[in-house]
Amino acid sequence: MIRFEDVSVTYEGAAEPAVRGVGLDIPEGELCLVVGPSGVGKSTLLGAVSGLVPHFTGGLLRGRVTVAGRDTRTHRPRELADVVGTVGQDPLSHFVTDTVEDELAYGMESLGVPPETMRRRVEETLDLLGLTELRDRPTASLSGGQQQRVAIGSVLTVHPRVLVLDEPTSALDPGAAEEVLAVLQRLVHDLGTTVLMAEHRLERVVQYADQVVLMAAPGVPPVTGTPAEMMAV
Ligand code: ADP
Ligand code: ADP
Repeated sequence: MIRFEDVSVTYEGAAEPAVRGVGLDIPEGELCLVVGPSGVGKSTLLGAVSGLVPHFTGGLLRGRVTVAGRDTRTHRPRELADVVGTVGQDPLSHFVTDTVEDELAYGMESLGVPPETMRRRVEETLDLLGLTELRDRPTASLSGGQQQRVAIGSVLTVHPRVLVLDEPTSALDPGAAEEVLAVLQRLVHDLGTTVLMAEHRLERVVQYADQVVLMAAPGVPPVTGTPAEMMAV
């Protein structure tokens, strides 16, 4: 579903590539975890999937990244929006409307989904993420874990086949992080969504992963393996 072929990304003015020599194959319905310390290139790697790299952040991308067969360099992020949903680190900066329900509908509106389908998908997603009771609440009044679930829901209503998440639990306490990870696990198992997720700590999330991409140092090609192999490193 996601394929990297010898990918490197170099930002303008940088002496060294931010990521180098990435080869990766993520099958449909798997959860792939990208782990490494801050500044090592995790967001850059994720951005090459959602198209933020190179279209919105700049950077020279060598090699090839395809998502569901679409080359992310020749397709604008807008042309990938029906396939790839992206959730950044800070849900509040992601929100464009006031309430939970409006937030879940927004992405579909901009893609022209018919109103009846929109209503049904909002209900399904509220239910899936345990947000039904909170539907009329202002997003700003929610806890961190609830906000993160709304941010995930706002891209899920589009029914993306791929979900890209940049450190979705980093700002959360352990209980809220568990809430979010449980939702992701359900998506992978029940809906066959392919998930690519960055985290700076391996321990918390490794049990949920099918594949782990370890980025140890800036510009060093990542090492890929199963969670068991990576725990042994
Ligand atoms: P991580 O997500 O692991 O913290 P990033 O991918 O954000 O790492 O950053 C990797 C390197 O690329 C860092 O040195 C960072 O400063 C640099 N970088 C990230 N985004 C940009 C950008 N838009 N322009 C220039 N340099 C960038
Ligand atoms: P519609 O376009 O009529 O909403 P779909 O064919 O897109 O229906 O989806 C059919 C069913 O698949 C829905 O009931 C929904 O629960 C489920 N589904 C598939 N993928 C997703 C997803 N990524 N997020 C949420 N639900 C999904």
